[in-house]
Amino acid sequence: MFCGIMKTISLIGSTGSIGKQTLDVCRKHGIRVTALAANSNIGLLEAQAREFSVGSVCIYDEKLFGDLKSRLSDTDIKVLCGMEGLCSIAEADNVDLFVNSVVGMVGLLPTLTAINAGTDIALANKETLVAGGGLVMSSAEKKNVKIFPIDSEHSAIFQCLQGNKREQLRKIILTASGGPFFGMKKPELENVTVEQALSHPNWSMGNKITIDSATLMNKGLEFIEAHWLFGVQTENIEIIVNRESILHSAVEFNDHSVIGQMGVPDMKIPIQYAILYPERLECDVKPLSLTDCGTLTFAKPDLETFDCLSGCIEAIKRGGAYPCIVNAVNEEAVRLFLEKKISFLDIGKTVSDSLSAFGYMPADSYEDIKKAEKLAREFVKNRFE
Ligand code: MN
Repeated sequence: MFCGIMKTISLIGSTGSIGKQTLDVCRKHGIRVTALAANSNIGLLEAQAREFSVGSVCIYDEKLFGDLKSRLSDTDIKVLCGMEGLCSIAEADNVDLFVNSVVGMVGLLPTLTAINAGTDIALANKETLVAGGGLVMSSAEKKNVKIFPIDSEHSAIFQCLQGNKREQLRKIILTASGGPFFGMKKPELENVTVEQALSHPNWSMGNKITIDSATLMNKGLEFIEAHWLFGVQTENIEIIVNRESILHSAVEFNDHSVIGQMGVPDMKIPIQYAILYPERLECDVKPLSLTDCGTLTFAKPDLETFDCLSGCIEAIKRGGAYPCIVNAVNEEAVRLFLEKKISFLDIGKTVSDSLSAFGYMPADSYEDIKKAEKLAREFVKNRFE
């Protein structure tokens, strides 16, 4: 009898960078895929659905529903669309793990739906925990649902905690690459172009997260995520820059022993760990050669230059809907920057201004979160459009 990993997953965000690599892991290790969803890349979604003979498939962009349905009319694959479709993929039957790799706050409701269905989650969608961390973690606890982080830093922290007692954890050391503009000050960042911001030194990723890495918003979101995922107070999370992106994060225990996780900067490792957990099998990445790497450097992040990072830290300290607000404001600002309507520094300025523009709002329910999100998006639109 085949005694590999007998697992079945469902996946939303299947045509993005994380989604495609998730399917590579599934191909390599014979993981079954029963349901898939993508935003708008209909050709690739169709090919994936056929290759994995899925039971259902969803295209988020409702305008493309008819096209997908006719492309798959010779199959028994159930075709869905929109948020309702994403949520039905999230609660598909007989699934061991729901992989959420969509970009943006659109991932929150599918996460809550999977939790409600009692399905464990491999989470690449940061905005889920940023906007709804309290709600998501308390719901997951109630339903005894496990959340496996896919993000490289959180996977590193999760890996470092294996075999140790969570209550003896003193501190999280969250690493950052520093992005393409490390060492620069605001005057040098005034005329940054979209193309410059899109060229990341170490990681190859989608557009939104690459801009977030350039502004350090990405690290701010990860700071908030780390707080929720590991139940660590914000004063016990230290951000350090490791320019080489070899140390993916570390933890410090009560005895001041620090355990870190290293590897080449390739998302395949954390994706595979989240999917195959607790197994460690052959992975299609280069082995790490520390001697080739030579030197690892560490530095403090520049909180004065990178307003998005300091804004996120402030937001989670204030609590309530502030993390949701800075996230939604950033999503809108990044969109406008990619459309070349605002400058690079406008992104950080808008994020930090949103903290003073809004009073405290709760984020106890999905409705609370949606309300704060809507107000935050309007704030950006009123400012620039
Ligand atoms: Mn990351």
